[in-house]
Amino acid sequence: MKATIHPKYVAAEIRCACGNVIKTRSTKPTILVGICNVCHPFYTGTQKFVDTAGRVDKFQQRMVKTQAAQAAQAASKKKKR
Ligand SMILES: [Zn+2]
Repeated sequence: MKATIHPKYVAAEIRCACGNVIKTRSTKPTILVGICNVCHPFYTGTQKFVDTAGRVDKFQQRMVKTQAAQAAQAASKKKKR
């Protein structure tokens, strides 16, 4: 292996939203996922809503914030000119 061209390969944790932790190795120390083999309906065999944390709601909240920020930025640009 060449000395300086490779990224660090460290012990890593993959953390799922359901609380499951998978230990592995990666170039990143922690990886956050929304669904894993423990809680995915394909493996559990039960139907359930994945949107338990209200991801759609969170996205819409973020969208409103972004639009407000963009409007504020546009307003400040107009003032400068
Ligand atoms: Zn999971």
